Amino acid sequence: MTNRPTDAPAVRYDFLVVGAGTAGAVMAARLSEDGLHRVLLIEAGVDTPPGQIPADIDDTFPSSTLNPAYFWPGLEARMADGREPRPFPQARVMGGGSSIMGMFALRGMPSDFERWRAAGAAGWSWEEARRVYRKIEREPARGEGGDGTTPVTRTSPREWPTFVSALRDAALANGFPYVEDINEAPAEGFFPMPTTRNAEFRSGSARCYLTESVRRRPNLTIMANTVVQRLLFNGRVAIGVECEHGGATMTVLARHVIVSAGAIYSPALLLRSGVGPAQELASIGVKPVVDLRGVGRNLQNHAYQFFALTLPRDKRLAPTLRRFAMAGLRASSKLQDCPPGDLLLFAFGRVSPQPFGTGVAMLGSALYSPFSTGTVTLQAANPQAAPRIDFRMLGDPRDAPRVVMAARLAERLLRDPTVAANYNEAFLLPPGMALNQFNRSGLAGLALAVGAGAALDAPGPLRRFALRHVAGLGRPLAQRRGNDAPSDGELLASIAPMGHPVGTCTMGDARSPSTVVDDAYRVCGVGNLYVVDASVMPVIPSANTHMPTLMLAEHAAERITRDHTHVAPGVMGAA
Ligand SMILES: Cc1cc2nc3c(=O)[nH]c(=O)nc-3n(C[C@H](O)[C@H](O)[C@H](O)COP(=O)(O)OP(=O)(O)OC[C@H]3O[C@@H](n4cnc5c(N)ncnc54)[C@H](O)[C@@H]3O)c2cc1C
Repeated sequence: MTNRPTDAPAVRYDFLVVGAGTAGAVMAARLSEDGLHRVLLIEAGVDTPPGQIPADIDDTFPSSTLNPAYFWPGLEARMADGREPRPFPQARVMGGGSSIMGMFALRGMPSDFERWRAAGAAGWSWEEARRVYRKIEREPARGEGGDGTTPVTRTSPREWPTFVSALRDAALANGFPYVEDINEAPAEGFFPMPTTRNAEFRSGSARCYLTESVRRRPNLTIMANTVVQRLLFNGRVAIGVECEHGGATMTVLARHVIVSAGAIYSPALLLRSGVGPAQELASIGVKPVVDLRGVGRNLQNHAYQFFALTLPRDKRLAPTLRRFAMAGLRASSKLQDCPPGDLLLFAFGRVSPQPFGTGVAMLGSALYSPFSTGTVTLQAANPQAAPRIDFRMLGDPRDAPRVVMAARLAERLLRDPTVAANYNEAFLLPPGMALNQFNRSGLAGLALAVGAGAALDAPGPLRRFALRHVAGLGRPLAQRRGNDAPSDGELLASIAPMGHPVGTCTMGDARSPSTVVDDAYRVCGVGNLYVVDASVMPVIPSANTHMPTLMLAEHAAERITRDHTHVAPGVMGAA
């Protein structure tokens, strides 16, 4: 396998961005802003240009998360050693995860960014992260930030299904404060969930950054349906990529290559191109360019589980409201070494875009500051082979007790009489059963929607029979008391990894062998190569990872443009 281009293309870009996800869309828009640097953005998935954004992506209920056309096929992950691999969805579409995700818009806790600095990522602090977040968020409710790129809004408590208001009351009665704006006042408490949407559409990074005026820039080119197979080097300097489009292989040259393929595919691309642990690469036939031990290590993710609740007709979200996340509760385990706000509960008001969807709600519980780490490795050098993902969740002894604490808090609130008066039944769901459990495509989906609608409105015994024996939801929580209550083992067996992988190209002190990028996002040991996406986070934030990734990308764009303003752009236009 060679690492040199095979032919000489006509154009050489100043910046080539691999992946148009949450981070890549920001990078392309910001780096082309000066009108001078020639920028190429390459995305494996379909384009969703303004005016042609599919309805399921625009939907303010995350219908797109149910569309397999927007995901990498065949990707699986092992939650723990010895467990069978299960499907692990990662986005493959313009906007990446921001086009398919659940739209939670959390910034994280101040301690998250202090922990980044402690891990060797110089310059990070809550003040710095907050400065960039304020630049991104367009929050009319805050009476500020009218010019942020990304609308963020909350479902008003007036619109919540009654079980969410009851959860709030129960949380307050249990000593938690009510926090109006969890992003500006990050602390323990019950809060309305900020979401990346406005009343009409999802505010993903494709819509908010790759706008009509950005796409009209003559110095920005966007190539969709194009998969980068590997990076090209001259010695230890990145000079471009080899990619596949419509069955043809092409070489594209660039002065700077920015890898924004996400926390699974960025390390996979680096490894396939010879950037990674040299011995491991040699064993699968990849010629090492640089021996970088940290690539694919330090994989982190949140562990979650769900309780599903069936709701009486008069206690549901209004059917016209296509909403998902309603509210959250941040709590602290207060266990030794564990940061504040390490546990999160979140309440969903509907489980399907179909009319029956408001008849079921969910309460999730999650560990938001895990210590366990895993790996992304290659199974083969062939770009068609899916990378291997081993999360090794609960590998660190500090994690399992906190997973149980979060689930027990959810269970306690659900058993509170104020809350219990607002639902019919509550069930602990098996691992990974969430929206996919309640939705199918095609005829099976229609049959499920009709059947579920009828079952949810049926009299109690019939409803419980259908939920237990047809839907397979098991015994309701209310019937599970004493010895039959969910055991710690059952709670631990019900967890699954969230869609929040980070850390596999970790940012840190360039002198540390585990570091992959320095504080200027440059890959250590190679020239002209950067990684900018969720993979560079040294420690997973106590937040869903879209907003932290968006913030990182804005930060990286500031840094990279500053470092390149002195270079006359476009001078390398002809190869
Ligand atoms: C099901 C799900 C639900 C989620 N819900 C939430 C939520 O509610 N709130 C939240 O904050 N976060 C959520 N997330 C997480 C969030 O979407 C991610 O953290 C975020 O999108 C990461 O951004 P990224 O730029 O690192 O990667 P991505 O957004 O994944 O972008 C990577 C892009 O690179 C492309 N790519 C990869 N390899 C190549 C290649 N070789 N050639 C060309 N293109 C390539 C991919 O197709 C993809 O579009 C969710 C994620 C998932 C999967």
